[in-house]
This record gives sequence, structure tokens and C-alpha cells, in this order.
Amino acid sequence: MRIILIGPPGAGKGTQAARLVRTYSIPAVSTGEMLRHAADQGSELGQTADSFMKRGQLVPDESVIAMVMERIAQPDCASGFLLDGFPRTLTQAEALHESLQQAGIGVDSAVLIEVPDDLIMERITGRRLDPQTGTIYHVKFDPPPPDVVPRLVQRKDDTEEACQARLVRYHAETEPIVAYYERQNLLCRVDGVGDPDRIGGRLMVCLTKKTE
Ligand code: AMP
Repeated sequence: MRIILIGPPGAGKGTQAARLVRTYSIPAVSTGEMLRHAADQGSELGQTADSFMKRGQLVPDESVIAMVMERIAQPDCASGFLLDGFPRTLTQAEALHESLQQAGIGVDSAVLIEVPDDLIMERITGRRLDPQTGTIYHVKFDPPPPDVVPRLVQRKDDTEEACQARLVRYHAETEPIVAYYERQNLLCRVDGVGDPDRIGGRLMVCLTKKTE
């Protein structure tokens, strides 16, 4: 099973990715996580990526495409994978298509998780990470216990300005790939507002229909 997850930042892609990975026993390939890891390691790619990520801008296509192609060529992706955060531009979508086509395979489904911008802003700017445990809280929707509050941090790209920039980019650069997958009859639209379990249920209904 090869699935692509599309949606604005803060749409809950990470949460739904974790469920799909369990359901289909496939690895999740999250470009955001891979790029943050590269930035933490201080590799050449990481240093380049960090400067774009901090400003809420997309990392250049060629770097991200090379990184993803290398990852999905690994043996654990042979029977499928879930792409979270990739492709984000038409160039990336076309590069993925070409590479899979050369291998005689294709994407099974592209799932779009839809959430209105004002809710995205509220979700993202309230997000806080506990660096000690990796737990993510939300100041309003999932308040942290008082004793961990002093050590919580906000991701650099979760500030209001960076979030605004990411939303603008999303609408300009990522929405065209929605039309791209729609034309290929691979798109599943899922309402991303509400309880994660219910969203997961909607997603499974959609995926089952697409892959029947
Ligand atoms: P995410 O965790 O998916 O929200 O990604 C965080 C940041 O990583 C984004 O704001 C971009 O700067 C960068 N990034 C992640 N995936 C991609 C991609 N497919 N193309 C370009 N930049 C990306």
C-alpha cells in the first residue's frame, strides 16, 4: 500500500499517519521529521533546510526529492509506505510519479485532510513540545500538567508569523497537487475537523473505497 497524506500544517497528518502505519504495517516517511533531524545533526542538508524551515518556507525541491527517493528505495519501503508532507509541490509530485513508474509501481491513494485556516492557526500556535519526553501538548486543547510547563518549547515554525507564511505557501504551492491527484482519480477528501478517532474512521472509509 502506497499512500500520500496531504493537508495544511497542523491538519493532524502526523496523528493519522501513526494510525495508518499500524493498520497497513508500512513505514511512515515524514519529510518534516527527516529535515528536522538533519538540522539537529547539522549535516549539509540540515543546515540548508534549517534556514528555510525557520522562515516557514519550503526547502528547495531538489534537496527534498533526493532525500525522499533515497528513503523509499530502502528495503523496508518495498511493500509500501506512507508519505507525510511529501509531495508538497507539483515538481515533487511529478518526480515521485516518474520514479515510481520506472519501478513499475504507483501510488494507491492520496488523502487530503481538510481543515479551515482559522482552526489551523489556533492549533499550531498553541502547540508545545516537552523536549524531555517528546510529548506534544496544546495550551487549550490538551493542556500540559503544571510541573512540565516550565520546560515546554514551541517549534520555531509554530509561531504566528511562520504559521501564516506556511499557510500562504500551502495554498499557493500545495493545492495544485490536489488537482493533480484528483485528475488521476487517486484523491480521497477527508474532513479533518473533530475527534482524531472519527477522522481516522472517515479516512479508512475513503481508503477502502479507493483501493477496492
Ligand atoms: P512539517 O513538519 O511537515 O510541517 O514540515 C516542516 C517544514 O519542513 C516545512 O515548513 C518545510 O519548511 C519543510 N518541509 C517538509 N516537507 C517538505 C517538502 N516536501 N518540501 C519542502 N519543504 C518541506
